[in-house]
Amino acid sequence: MSPEAAPPPKVPPKLNPVRVPVPEEPVGDRTGDFREVLHAYSKEDAVLEAKRCIQCRRPWCVEACPISQDAREYIRLIAAEDFDGAAKVTLREDPLSTCLCKVCYHYCEDACVVKKKGVPIAIRHLKRVALDYGNSDLVYVPSKPKHQRVAVVGAGPAGLMAAWELGVRGYAVTVFEQADRFGGLMQTIPAYRMTNADVETDRARFRDLDVTFVADTKIGRDRPLATLVAEYDAVFVSIGTSNHRRLGVPGEDKEGVLHALHFLTEINHDRPVTVGREVVVVGGGDVAMDSVRSALRKCSGGHVTLVYRRGRDEMPADPEEVAGAEHEGVRFLFQRAPVRIVGDDHVQGLVVQSVELGPPDAGGRRAPTPVPGTEETIPCDTVLVAVGQKADLEGFGAELDLQITNQGWPEGKQDGFATGLPGVFAAGGRSVVYAMGNATEAAEAIDRYLSGKRGETGTPRPDPFGGESSFHLPAGYTTPIRS
Ligand SMILES: Cc1cc2nc3c(=O)[nH]c(=O)nc-3n(C[C@H](O)[C@H](O)[C@H](O)COP(=O)(O)OP(=O)(O)OC[C@H]3O[C@@H](n4cnc5c(N)ncnc54)[C@H](O)[C@@H]3O)c2cc1C
Ligand code: SF4
Repeated sequence: MSPEAAPPPKVPPKLNPVRVPVPEEPVGDRTGDFREVLHAYSKEDAVLEAKRCIQCRRPWCVEACPISQDAREYIRLIAAEDFDGAAKVTLREDPLSTCLCKVCYHYCEDACVVKKKGVPIAIRHLKRVALDYGNSDLVYVPSKPKHQRVAVVGAGPAGLMAAWELGVRGYAVTVFEQADRFGGLMQTIPAYRMTNADVETDRARFRDLDVTFVADTKIGRDRPLATLVAEYDAVFVSIGTSNHRRLGVPGEDKEGVLHALHFLTEINHDRPVTVGREVVVVGGGDVAMDSVRSALRKCSGGHVTLVYRRGRDEMPADPEEVAGAEHEGVRFLFQRAPVRIVGDDHVQGLVVQSVELGPPDAGGRRAPTPVPGTEETIPCDTVLVAVGQKADLEGFGAELDLQITNQGWPEGKQDGFATGLPGVFAAGGRSVVYAMGNATEAAEAIDRYLSGKRGETGTPRPDPFGGESSFHLPAGYTTPIRS
């Protein structure tokens, strides 16, 4: 049954609509540095929050998750104060739990039946509780070796998930990453939300799998893709969107104009990056939110303004991040389009023009139209450009026949994300968990492809802890959404 065809959840009359508050740093203290903003529940509060879950017979939270995380079960175990059990359930389907418990956009919470009456169960925060209070120092166990090798290009969430899916099935996997760290775009997420140590905590559980990580190697430049195709039995291309998009207005090359991915990466690497005291950030997505909040922490008590060409309701950013930015004192200017950046060598201002929004298009977005005679200059000494990313396709030729999605990442057009080259698959995703869900689909297709070469059929994922069984959605459930 497709998700559209699923009947709406029935709302039980006696559910508790009020969430136990998640502890957070006071606003006044937190913008002076990059300390973590949200903290874990205490054990007692976690149990109270978990007891709000009514353990739906049909768990909408699980169905909404691109990786079919059995949230209902780990919440049940937390309510029973079995934190070790909850940690094991969490890590059974989600090898990047330490990262996702901090940054997942929690599609499960949007689907949670409690949302019909109030605030949904804090499913993501409870995942953190499972890891913090349960034994999360577990190690994944590979199945019998398959004696086939897979190369993964790119160590973002998609590449890491594919490596795990194939590693636990007994394949020998080599992950090639162009950067000096693993985690892909998660490496740009500011430390007040998650850190590089979180990626490393998750990656450490891979240590007994036959997965080798190779950093500082750009496929297509340092090694041609063709050599991987020749040397490995299959290749998974998960190169994501590592290049920034430009604003495309005059003055973009002036001193004081920074591109968000570069800005955020430099901060996370503890390399010097300076902003002035009047910062303007252009964009309306999650990268823009991370940029305004990071700029606020770098501007020595100055001011940060966000300029977005549509309205608040059209912002693609996570509402929690928008609220966080607003709470911390970021000024929002809606329905303004950048026209040019002014100044001599250094930025002195951003000229913007008001726009009117037309009726929603086929995708539900309202097209902005500039209003003549409405130009104004916002004085500033720094402009941060956060208008999207795109794939770097150097070395990935037309023979792959890739399609580029609306959000800019490349993927194979065929079933299971197969590309035009036999044995080569490509996928990624618009959020960490979507990238992981798509990688699962691709890894399953790779397993079928390689099993076929051995004269066998592909198998479902075994229990990654070497036990007897693993969780699978029972028959009749909707398949996870993996777009
Ligand atoms: C600032 C920021 C904040 C975000 N916040 C969130 C959030 O809170 N929650 C959320 O769910 N999502 C968030 N996202 C989105 C999320 O990070 C991405 O959707 C996700 O990382 C995509 O995963 P991926 O594996 O498809 O690609 P990527 O993460 O882009 O990983 C691709 C990897 O491939 C490597 N690579 C590229 N080309 C080559 C090559 N030729 N050879 C070798 N390696 C190569 C890259 O260096 C990179 O490590 C955020 C993104 C950004 C930029
Ligand atoms: S988290 Fe929400 S949707 Fe999931 S089982 Fe509990 S009440 Fe139901």
